[in-house]
Amino acid sequence: MDLIDQHGRTVRDVRISVTDRCNFRCTYCMPEEGLVWLDRSEVLTFEEIERVARICVERFNIDSLRLTGGEPTVRAHLPRLIQQLSGLRLSNGQKPDIALTTNGATLRNIATELRDAGLDRINVSLDSLRQDRFLAMTRRDELHNVLAGIAEAQSAGFAPVKVNAVIERGVNDDEILDLAKYGRDTGVEVRFIEFMPLDATNEWQRKQVVTQEEIVGIISAEFPLEQVPARGAAPADRWRYIDGKGTVGVIPSVSQPFCGDCDRVRLTSDGQFRTCLFATDEFDVRALLRNGGTDDDIANLIIHAVGTKWAGHQISQVNFIRPNRSMSQIGG
Ligand code: SAM
Repeated sequence: MDLIDQHGRTVRDVRISVTDRCNFRCTYCMPEEGLVWLDRSEVLTFEEIERVARICVERFNIDSLRLTGGEPTVRAHLPRLIQQLSGLRLSNGQKPDIALTTNGATLRNIATELRDAGLDRINVSLDSLRQDRFLAMTRRDELHNVLAGIAEAQSAGFAPVKVNAVIERGVNDDEILDLAKYGRDTGVEVRFIEFMPLDATNEWQRKQVVTQEEIVGIISAEFPLEQVPARGAAPADRWRYIDGKGTVGVIPSVSQPFCGDCDRVRLTSDGQFRTCLFATDEFDVRALLRNGGTDDDIANLIIHAVGTKWAGHQISQVNFIRPNRSMSQIGG
């Protein structure tokens, strides 16, 4: 059966966080000292993740599995999980699409292994092309490794590699054009993300958000763009460079929420099922996994959870309540 929420949207995509830990400390995401990490015993095992994914794929026709974190590549033996998930099949016999979101720091060493394990797509986060600023934003001197990792992912056959850049006013908004040029020159698809109120330090302010309109205005003044119609459920609006040098995207979560087309649900690394990044409720799948719950029990919990999915997040509303976990803890 398809999983359809009470607003008529069909769930097709589950974002699975494999760890809350990260080897970066991006200023907009985590404090310098890190967070209080989950105990290893609290984190789902690969077998537990596979079981939930199997139910999503086989029972609910969810055809897109996206692995995230924290930083998913710090989880030991990640390729083994990808291999396990690659064995899943939808009722029509197809393999689900498997994607990974990573900071790219170790990608140069593992891109081919990930590809061979069955990974279909890769998104790398990269907010600055300047070494000093990259260091200031991530608190890690890893720009050279990330750039090498992106190139290695391209060589390994990921096409296109997508590069996600969070733009914060006064921090890196002067690099919008440089990042766009980088995409045009290397063939990666750069996607700019509006800064969201999911930072761990509670400092988000609306005025820090650089909107889609501003971003597209800056790029198109230099490189004329035409919009690619109909994004469907994908979070990014996309534009094509008129001179043929690829495409660029913007994820306008704050200025133009795309909740009406949302087809996503989430599983945190500690086994909590969520229907939105900004949801304030979580559903405890791990308790069922560890206390003898059957596949039917887990499927019923998922159906119940999806029934509570909001029409949309409330970032711009006066009654907006920040979720009590940050992006890295939920799984970005
Ligand atoms: N570590 C991986 C990575 O760097 O891609 C995966 C997890 S990270 C939380 C996923 C994405 O969320 C990254 O692209 C990151 O830049 C983005 N992100 C984190 N905090 C954010 C915020 N407050 N607003 C917008 N995007 C954010």
